[in-house]
Amino acid sequence: MNTQPTFPISPDDRMKLEALCTQYNILLLGVTGGIASGKSTVADMLQGKGAMLIDFDVLAREVVEPGEKAFHGILEYFGNTILQEDGRLDRKKISSIVFEDAEKRKALMDFIYPNIAEIFFKQVEDLAKKSPGGIMQAVVPLLIEVSMQDLFHKIVLVYLPRAKQIERLMARDTIDRKKAEAILNAQMPINEKRKYADFTIDNDGDLDSTKNQVEAFWEELRELKK
Ligand code: ADP
Repeated sequence: MNTQPTFPISPDDRMKLEALCTQYNILLLGVTGGIASGKSTVADMLQGKGAMLIDFDVLAREVVEPGEKAFHGILEYFGNTILQEDGRLDRKKISSIVFEDAEKRKALMDFIYPNIAEIFFKQVEDLAKKSPGGIMQAVVPLLIEVSMQDLFHKIVLVYLPRAKQIERLMARDTIDRKKAEAILNAQMPINEKRKYADFTIDNDGDLDSTKNQVEAFWEELRELKK
């Protein structure tokens, strides 16, 4: 059984997205990396330079709020034990379930991806109308794993060597090494992702070093847009 879903986008939607970007003269950038490699950090910096932002982690949270379409499907599939006292889904609990079980992971993605796709298109449209001629970034943690490469004009990889990824993940999420390694092992190794990227930002140094690279990258993007 194939347990690695691809992002659901019909040829029709793909054409609509392209047409939107052409109509509003938008450069659509995919920002990816590995967990804790620094995607949000870099996206913040790019936003500071003027890039619009769509964050797939935020979309993934929105589509499972009570009352949203995916909420009921997930509840039925996983059962009441994944509900918190406040009536929301316990995302941590779901994560730990799907983490151990590829089939359940695929099922979860099948519930949420179509809804994420819907909001994504809507946000691209809204933002494009608001800021025609701009550079729009979508931060997508599993961009390559779910084969979204050709949805974007360019892809930037926020790179961090695996050992450092583990350190920063342990510190940020206060988890132990074993858990951090297990999370990383469920993703495509970051070194393998390099070959899919048009640009790489090396986030191995301090924040100033990353900022300098983001600034140079931003200038490259602006040149590209001309
Ligand atoms: P992601 O969005 O890829 O999961 P984050 O941007 O949240 O990663 O970064 C992971 C952690 O590492 C965060 O705690 C962040 O503050 C920290 N971090 C990011 N870049 C650097 C850096 N260049 N130096 C030190 N810490 C960093």
